[in-house]
Amino acid sequence: MTARRALVTGAGGFIGHHLVNRLKDDGYFVRGVDIKLPQFQDTRADEFLQLDLRVWENNLTAADGMDEVWALAADMGGMGFISAHHAEILHNNALINLHTLEAARQKGVGKLLYTSSACIYPEYLQEGTDVAPLKEADAYPAQPQDAYGWEKLVTERLCMHYRQDYGMDTRIVRFHNIFGPLGTWDGGREKAPAALCRKIAVAKRAANSEIEIWGDGEQTRSFCYIDDCITGLVLLMQSAWQEPINLGQDRMISINELADIIGGIAGLEVAKKHVVGPEGVRGRNSDNTLLREVLNWEPKISLEEGLGRTYEWIEQQVLSTEKVMSYT
Ligand code: NAD
Repeated sequence: MTARRALVTGAGGFIGHHLVNRLKDDGYFVRGVDIKLPQFQDTRADEFLQLDLRVWENNLTAADGMDEVWALAADMGGMGFISAHHAEILHNNALINLHTLEAARQKGVGKLLYTSSACIYPEYLQEGTDVAPLKEADAYPAQPQDAYGWEKLVTERLCMHYRQDYGMDTRIVRFHNIFGPLGTWDGGREKAPAALCRKIAVAKRAANSEIEIWGDGEQTRSFCYIDDCITGLVLLMQSAWQEPINLGQDRMISINELADIIGGIAGLEVAKKHVVGPEGVRGRNSDNTLLREVLNWEPKISLEEGLGRTYEWIEQQVLSTEKVMSYT
């Protein structure tokens, strides 16, 4: 039997790199595409094309001869990045996604998975720390907080219309804060779990206990370990479900609690210095009812276990970089 041929866009990034590994384990022929190579490990993709997917022709090259597209490429980062680059994010991601879908159609690719985000959910449902978990149907009436979320929502609709008008078999997943080793941990695009692991590793090395937290730290989120995320993606692609679906954990904790758990793993009693910074919505959690129904599965790896693996990897990164003394 010939192997299925999968294009993974964003294969140089955190989730894309892990996904390539999983698809290779599953016997796929994989073409990875990204504007950059994976930062921390060599790719296992059969082909890796360094291409800018904002450019139309590059999408035709990327999609040529493929059976499936797993569309992960995006100009993105944590709250610090997303809240400060609205125009750039909307412009770049709209170009990438419009071109990726249309090139897949023109090249006759039958199946496409699009990675959306919990950031599509309306701000008015996320104004307190103790919010109700977000169900898929809560997306409308739409009011995402940032341009990042608006663009994701428009591309969700693009997938729906390509399915209805052209018969493309699409999947749409809404991630809720995915974390784990081999993800960005410094430089401004890192997300809260990686940033806190780095700050705590740096504090520990400096025999200091103080770390900075953006805002009062009472803002809440749920966090999902990368291995569960990849399992969920593969199960979703195998399923027949074509509507948007949450993929995340449904255990909601505050950023202060997250820092305490990581401090416990590091063996450091963390002193929190609360500073002004971008916080995003006040509270957010995933309602996993649909996920359980559709996939007969939900994320299994505990926050403590996932953070243990992540902290260990980030501490190694911190200890092996000379820049360490400049971090706070
Ligand atoms: P990431 O930033 O590590 O990976 C995205 C990759 O896209 C990067 O390697 C980047 O170089 C690439 N890219 C950006 N612009 C490009 C361009 N013009 N041409 C080609 N490649 C380009 O992010 P990630 O965490 O791996 O996220 C993967 C997908 O999941 C993204 O679409 C993201 O929006 C979505 N998502 C992630 C999370 C999360 O918690 N990590 C949450 C919600 C949604």
